[in-house]
Amino acid sequence: MSLSERELKESFYLAKGNTYIYDLDRMEEHLRSLRTEGIRLWYACKANPLSAILKTVSKSGLSVDVASIGELNQAIRSEILPENILLTGPAKTKLFISKALEMGVRTFVIESRAQLELLARLSKNTQVNVLIRLQLSWEGEASILGGSQTSVFGLSPEEWESLPKFSQVKYIGVHVFQWGNILSTAELEKIWIKTAEEAKKFAEKQNFELSVLDLGGGLGIDYSQTSLDQEIHWNSLKEIFKSVQLKSEAKEIWLELGRYAVGLFGSYITQVVERKTVREKEFLICSGGINHLVRPALVNEFFPAEVLERKDLPLKEFNVHGPLCTALDKLGTYSLPKDTSPEDFIVFKKVGAYGFTESMPFFLCHDMPGEVIKKNGKLSVCRPVEGSEKWLK
Ligand SMILES: *Cc1c(COP(=O)(O)O)cnc(C)c1O
Repeated sequence: MSLSERELKESFYLAKGNTYIYDLDRMEEHLRSLRTEGIRLWYACKANPLSAILKTVSKSGLSVDVASIGELNQAIRSEILPENILLTGPAKTKLFISKALEMGVRTFVIESRAQLELLARLSKNTQVNVLIRLQLSWEGEASILGGSQTSVFGLSPEEWESLPKFSQVKYIGVHVFQWGNILSTAELEKIWIKTAEEAKKFAEKQNFELSVLDLGGGLGIDYSQTSLDQEIHWNSLKEIFKSVQLKSEAKEIWLELGRYAVGLFGSYITQVVERKTVREKEFLICSGGINHLVRPALVNEFFPAEVLERKDLPLKEFNVHGPLCTALDKLGTYSLPKDTSPEDFIVFKKVGAYGFTESMPFFLCHDMPGEVIKKNGKLSVCRPVEGSEKWLK
C-alpha cells in the first residue's frame, strides 16, 4: 500500500502547508530486499539527505556516499559510521578531505591526479583506500552525468597515465558512472559489461589488484505512471552482476544508489489556488511549484500526479503551474478530473529523490515546503512549513 489520500491530506495539515511526505516503512522494506551477496550498496546522499532517510538507509544495511562537507556532517550526525562513508565528488577541497580524514573516513573516489596528490599529502601516515574514477568514451546520447559527452568527472584511462605510488595509499578499485535514470536492464547490462572490461584492463595496466568495481548509480524510475511497480527488477540484475564480476574479476561490486533507493517513496502535496482558461488553455495554479520541486524545469520530465478525492470523472488536459512569476514554473501537463477546482489537493508521486534539496525554495520568498515522515505506521513532522522571515537577511 502506498500512502492513502487521508494520510497525504493529514500530512498537509500537520506540516501546515505544502509538504513532502516520505513513507519510510515502504522504503525500508524495499532497501532490505536489495541485499545481495557480493554486492556492497552505498546510498548517494545527494538524492535525499534527510536524517530520517539516512537512518533508514543505514538500518537497512546500506553505506553512504557523500560529496560535500554538508553531506559528510549530515551523515555523521545521522550516526553513519565513518567506515561506512565514501567520499566522492569532482571538487574535493583541502578542507573537505581533511575533515573527512579527521572524522575517520578512509575510502575515497579520486577524480584527478591533483586530487590524488592532495589526498596523499593530507593523509600523511594514515592508510587510505582509493578508487580511481574513469571517464570512458561511449556511443549515444548525453546524460545528466555526461553520458557520451565529455564531462568533469574523472579522467580517461590514458589521462591517468601511470599512477604514482604512495606508501599509505592503496588502490582498491575503479569507479565509473556516466549514465543516469536508465530504465532498461539490457542497457544497464551493456554499460556495466563494457565498464567491467575497461576496469580490468586499467587495473592490469596500473598493476593493482581490482578488489572493487564501483558501478555508481543510474538505475532509473519510470516517471510516466503512478504505479510503484519498478521498471528495473532487482532480481533480474543479479545475473548481470555475476557476469560483471566474472568479466572484471573484481572481488566486490559496489553500487551507489540514489534514485532507485528512495525515489519511489516520496510524495509532494500542494493546493490549487486558481483555475483559469487563458487563450483556450486550461491552467491550474498551485501554491507550490518548481520552488519546491524543480526537477521538471531542469530535465523537462514531469512527475506523475493525481488530484485527491476527485477520481471517476471525465478527464481534461491541464497545465499545472506554481506561484513563481516565471513561465518556467511549470510542474507538468496532466489529464486530470474535469472539475478540479481551487482548494483541491494535487499530489506529485515518486519525488523521494532529487526533490526537496534539489529545488529553489528562496525565489520570490515563498514558504519553504515541509517534510513529513511515515514511520511504523505513524505520521510525524520533521520540518514544518516555514516562512521567508526564517532565512531572509
Ligand atoms: C548522483 C550520484 C549517484 C546516484 O545516482 P542515481 O542515478 O540517483 O542512482 C551515485 N554516485 C555518484 C558519484 C553520484 O554523483
